[in-house]
Amino acid sequence: HAARDEGNVIAWYDNTVSSRLAERLRLAGRIHSAIDTEFELYYQPICHAADSTPAALEALLRWPQADGSFIPPGEFIQLCEDTGLILALGRWVIRSAAQAQRQLVDAGWDLPIAVNVSAVQFFNSDLVAEFTRASQEFGLARGALQVELTESSLMRKPGQAKQTMQRLHEQGICISLDDFGTGYSNMSYLQHLPLDILKIDRSFVADVETNPRNASICRALLSLGHSMGLTIIAEGVETPGQHQWLAAHGCDQVQGYLLGRPMPLAKVIAQLESVEA
Ligand code: C2E
Ligand code: MG
Ligand code: MG
Ligand code: MG
Repeated sequence: HAARDEGNVIAWYDNTVSSRLAERLRLAGRIHSAIDTEFELYYQPICHAADSTPAALEALLRWPQADGSFIPPGEFIQLCEDTGLILALGRWVIRSAAQAQRQLVDAGWDLPIAVNVSAVQFFNSDLVAEFTRASQEFGLARGALQVELTESSLMRKPGQAKQTMQRLHEQGICISLDDFGTGYSNMSYLQHLPLDILKIDRSFVADVETNPRNASICRALLSLGHSMGLTIIAEGVETPGQHQWLAAHGCDQVQGYLLGRPMPLAKVIAQLESVEA
């Protein structure tokens, strides 16, 4: 009996796993055929904390669906990493962001565009060549593109990470550490990496002006980052109170719904022009 029970348990387990697997495979197949045709990049402004003028844009993937909704990156990036699809999708993102930076410059707005790069892509593609090729194709200046990495990417293979970062730097590409404070960084190690920007994760920014714990974390991250000579961006700034607190505590740049939501490039350009007028 025991054996049969066990068999049943295994059979049941197999069914759930295989239907979940089938669903994931179906989604992966849809992503594969959607890469050059369905995905879009939205752009969110990153602004100087002192006067809210734009400093850069962050490119964020959007997958629009027939019903007008979007599948958020949180629901497909992981699958893309697990299946290796992130390599092709990441290449598409780099080229599209480069093309957008060209359009921005042509419209009179020379703002850098920051591109998110996942750990799988960072370690398994010739990232430097992809950025160089895209920059050349669209005739971009040094500094036109930036790379956003997370702590987990950097801590996974420190030696290789450092080398790739140095080569990106040689191409004039600035490097941000994204979601800072959520990983398990080894500070003494981070100090030896060629980083330019720290992005404080939005979980610490959320109620910074009223929550003493988040306020001390933000103060510590600002002081640590500045002592390393880095520019600091606060993510997820949604209220004037958060913005004021961050500006008063020396945060360099702010990003969040208060300053602007992610939007299509044409809308970003229209907004830049309406503010200027
Ligand atoms: P991230 O790089 O930390 O991007 C910031 C996320 O915060 C974005 O979510 C953005 O829409 C959201 N956000 C911005 N301002 C606010 C705010 O004021 N409040 C709140 N609640 N959220 C805000 P999104 O677009 O859903 O992207 C989620 C994550 O997916 C990104 O986090 C990034 O890790 C990943 N991702 C997005 N695009 C790409 C891409 O092209 N390549 C890779 N590898 N990952 C990407
Ligand atoms: Mg990012
Ligand atoms: Mg982030
Ligand atoms: Mg974040």
